[in-house]
Amino acid sequence: MTTYVWDYLPEYYNEREDILDAVDKVFSSGALVLADSVKGFEQEFAAYHGAGHCVGVDNGTNALKLALQALGVGPGDEVITVSNTAAPTVIAIDGTGATPVFVDVNEDDYLIDVSQVEAAITERTKALLPVHLYGQCVDLDALKAIADRHGLAILEDCAQSHGATQRGKLAGTTGDAAAFSFYPTKVLGAYGDGGAVVTSRADVDAELRKLRYYGMEKVYYTVQTPAHNSRLDEVQAEILRRKLTRLDAYVAGRREVARRYQEALGDTELVLPKVNEGNTHSYYVYVVRHPERDRIIEALKAYDISLNISYPWPVHTMTGFAHLGYAEGSLPVTEKLAGEIFSLPMYPALPSGLQDKVIAALREVL
Ligand SMILES: *Cc1c(COP(=O)(O)O)cnc(C)c1O
Repeated sequence: MTTYVWDYLPEYYNEREDILDAVDKVFSSGALVLADSVKGFEQEFAAYHGAGHCVGVDNGTNALKLALQALGVGPGDEVITVSNTAAPTVIAIDGTGATPVFVDVNEDDYLIDVSQVEAAITERTKALLPVHLYGQCVDLDALKAIADRHGLAILEDCAQSHGATQRGKLAGTTGDAAAFSFYPTKVLGAYGDGGAVVTSRADVDAELRKLRYYGMEKVYYTVQTPAHNSRLDEVQAEILRRKLTRLDAYVAGRREVARRYQEALGDTELVLPKVNEGNTHSYYVYVVRHPERDRIIEALKAYDISLNISYPWPVHTMTGFAHLGYAEGSLPVTEKLAGEIFSLPMYPALPSGLQDKVIAALREVL
């Protein structure tokens, strides 16, 4: 049997009774859309973050897009982010009509190089969109100082960083708002699509509730500003409520898998993830680096191990973003990393036998 970087079935078999009970609870409740489970999840996810508000939406991409719109971002504006991210970060900016502006990342932690942000700010810059990539927070104090100096909003892309902390603060609690994805692979994953925005700003919360519900405010059936249907599904919300009670355990499980990789591969030529001082990592993906990445991935296929790359092509090199005008070589660290990084299997229910198999195979191939 092939070993993949992610598999939800071991977790499903562990939690099957609870998951099916959540489904049955919603199906028997008599209310299938924006009812008790979505409201309950919103309250509980906000409380988990010590935030005033949470608005459930249909996926992480729309969480980002609607949060940007709720922060006033639209056509003609610029939003500063990275090209070393999942494409949806940039899709969301594009979806508001604003222009994504990229800065390069650090060579050691693969996160936005905060020292390059200020030079990218123009009169049109409206917001900064840091991505807490792979499960580790960007240096938020430094970024917030820049945002405050220039009157910019911060939207944190927390799609990969549920449960990660920086100086004791959870990811998603420093910016004006934070967007989460509950895509099944994520640290807090639904059994389908889901997303949410966490914020302590009542104005952003109110705007988001309109934006996810056709643009209706207070009185149903009348629209003030035409918007979208981006509701979080009741069934997914009820499953997420159950899984939220286990989020800290999932993160601890991922850290244990990471600890084992560190112990078993720390003496090899692989560059293992660097955890910055003051951060705790939630290891959404366990990204390692080696100049002979392609050879290693190919050789591991003989051991029935199929690894992933997060991500093989920086967003600015994709044909869909050619119009942004970033030439090859314009983000040198991002481009270099894309040719060398790959991900090892990582999920809390990863059977230890499978992890041993990957470690042994890697040591042989290296
Ligand atoms: C997964 C992801 C998204 C998009 O989330 P979806 O729920 O798939 O729409 C956005 N940003 C990052 C960094 C992601 O990893």
